[in-house]
Amino acid sequence: MAQRTKLVAGNWKMHGSLASNLSLLDAVKAGAAGMACEAAVCVPYPYLAQARSVLTGSNVGWGAQDVSAHSQGAYTGEVSAAMLADFGCRYAIVGHSERRTLHGESDQLVAEKFAAALGSGLTPILCVGETLAEREAGVTDSVVTRQLEAVLANSGVAALARAVVAYEPVWAIGTGRTATPQQAQDVHAAIRARVAKDDATVAAGLQVLYGGSVKAGNAKELFGMPDIDGGLIGGASLVAADFLAICAAA
Ligand code: PEP
Repeated sequence: MAQRTKLVAGNWKMHGSLASNLSLLDAVKAGAAGMACEAAVCVPYPYLAQARSVLTGSNVGWGAQDVSAHSQGAYTGEVSAAMLADFGCRYAIVGHSERRTLHGESDQLVAEKFAAALGSGLTPILCVGETLAEREAGVTDSVVTRQLEAVLANSGVAALARAVVAYEPVWAIGTGRTATPQQAQDVHAAIRARVAKDDATVAAGLQVLYGGSVKAGNAKELFGMPDIDGGLIGGASLVAADFLAICAAA
């Protein structure tokens, strides 16, 4: 079995201030030093400069929570992958469920954002996941596969060798309701199996993160599952001690 390094990535969403970020970033940087897992934070655009200034030279990566599908032009308010790469970002989240739901991002648009991020040398963190209604209707695997296949169709399976996938059941994000380790494992295994259909080597090396109300108390059990390679952490990434405890669990 391929050895995959665990990755714990924070998604700060639209939280923070220059003052409060400083102590959080300093604490994460200090606490993550020497840890065996990879760690990263995805911060709001205005705080990328602060993340770069604090985290450069540390073992904590940093990046953005979204990226434009376009390379440049008349797209007011958007930020291109080339700009993020120019700035030194390593990661860009694409297809977070809040973008899909609140901003109407389609599978195709997410696939284009993924390609844009990859094309500029960023590591896209591709979020996939089902709603509660979809889980209850028994279509979890087909929803997640459809979201994944949009990217496979647009970029090809080799692209996933330079990307990260995050399985985030929508009903578990910010709700305090976590998928059980077995529920998460089942979907992670399905994601890996779908990638393996196209390329077994890429599938074996692919980091598939779990996201959805991961806390210090449930991280160890989740990360102990064979196909769970770390986490995408929302709320708990805003408290250094919580985020670091999750990193330690990885
Ligand atoms: C997220 O925002 O991607 C997320 C998983 O949030 P939370 O950990 O708060 O559920």
